[in-house]
Amino acid sequence: MDVSSSAPLNLRRTRGDVLPPAALPARSDVVVVGAGLIGLSAAWRLAQAGRTITVLERDTVGAGASLAATGMLAPAAEHEPGSDPLLPLALESLSRWPGFRDDLQAAAGLEIDYREEGTLVLAIGRDEVERLRFRHDLQVRSGLEARWLSGPEVRAREPSLRPGISAGLFCAHDHQVDPSLVMAALVRACLKAGVVIVEACPVEALVWSDARVIGVRTGGGEVGADVVLLASGAWSGEAGLLPETLALPVRPLRGQSLALRTTKRTGTLKHMVWTEQVHMAPKSDGHLIVGATVEDCGFATGVTAGGLYALLEGARRVLPGIEEMAVEAVWSGFRPTSDDDAPIIDALAPGLLVATGHHRNGYLLAPATADAVAGLVANGTLPDYARAFGLARFQQASERRAFA
Ligand SMILES: Cc1cc2nc3c(=O)[nH]c(=O)nc-3n(C[C@H](O)[C@H](O)[C@H](O)COP(=O)(O)OP(=O)(O)OC[C@H]3O[C@@H](n4cnc5c(N)ncnc54)[C@H](O)[C@@H]3O)c2cc1C
Repeated sequence: MDVSSSAPLNLRRTRGDVLPPAALPARSDVVVVGAGLIGLSAAWRLAQAGRTITVLERDTVGAGASLAATGMLAPAAEHEPGSDPLLPLALESLSRWPGFRDDLQAAAGLEIDYREEGTLVLAIGRDEVERLRFRHDLQVRSGLEARWLSGPEVRAREPSLRPGISAGLFCAHDHQVDPSLVMAALVRACLKAGVVIVEACPVEALVWSDARVIGVRTGGGEVGADVVLLASGAWSGEAGLLPETLALPVRPLRGQSLALRTTKRTGTLKHMVWTEQVHMAPKSDGHLIVGATVEDCGFATGVTAGGLYALLEGARRVLPGIEEMAVEAVWSGFRPTSDDDAPIIDALAPGLLVATGHHRNGYLLAPATADAVAGLVANGTLPDYARAFGLARFQQASERRAFA
């Protein structure tokens, strides 16, 4: 079994295959700090627009949150009280996914296991049914499509679920991808577009000239740039690179997950399945991903017995067949979470952009984020759909609190 503090499975193989060692260039139109999903998506889109791009990664590609994710693109199942402001961006990004997928698969020559079976959100017992009704009302009020199903209707869709399921919601427009394949495809697409990706290369400081960022400093030297994009995930909120006046309200939320191996004998699921305890997502290579804990424990790495126990117990409660499935890998990663759980996409200073805080929705929001960053670099402004996600919203909120 593979035990990892980031993500496992077929990632290392793909990464090792495609990523040649790269020397640090002296300058680049854009330097991206962080080779996670957000940094690579933006790098690829910017390179397609004709810019020279260097991506600097402290660790290895995807080592932060991006290889730890389940890959659900699920604005309906994820919708909960308080997430209305994020919904238009989530739906905009979901609508961009088919085009993003087609471009990416064509550029990389790799499939990303894009699946469209939708999500089933389950309830067992009267209390959970009550809460599911509340969730359904909220979805309907927000204009999302979600169909109420009786217990037998749920089991007609997924016969391997436990007979005691009381009710469910079917969110037909939720999709999913395989994060390991998306990251491998992004690496390939970036390299083919001329992006330089340098691993084991922490950015130690931004280089300023007067009030403008003109590059970055690393242990291997400086790289000059017209624009630096900070895409350093959960670490973007740490003191170090940014002056105090630009500090970002971003913190890590640890998520533990595991991968089960399904076979013809054990059976598997067709849809993504959500309960109040876990989500499960079947991948076409036979893995069933079970995730994910949500833990406010700083950057404490690793997996815990309590975390894995909760995941397995939550999965077994609805899918007894997991008892026969082999555990292939367990891992954890750090969601980059802002104070309102929504991303921060903005220009922080001349020459300095940021795209971070994607919390549990980085995959869902990647196409819209990458296009928004490309728009910001090209025109100096964000497209309309992303305007609400600047840093100013936190400053305005704290000013409102101060005057209250
Ligand atoms: C368990 C789990 C399940 C999830 N499931 C889903 C899901 O189903 N659907 C979904 O949409 N989202 C999901 N997410 C969220 C998603 O994974 C994240 O929102 C997304 O991966 C964030 O990408 P990122 O590029 O911003 O951050 P990261 O992937 O963390 O990348 C940031 C990178 O920056 C590097 N870095 C940091 N500081 C420096 C520096 N100074 N110099 C150089 N490099 C630096 C880090 O090493 C890291 O590799 C999940 C997350 C977790 C943890």
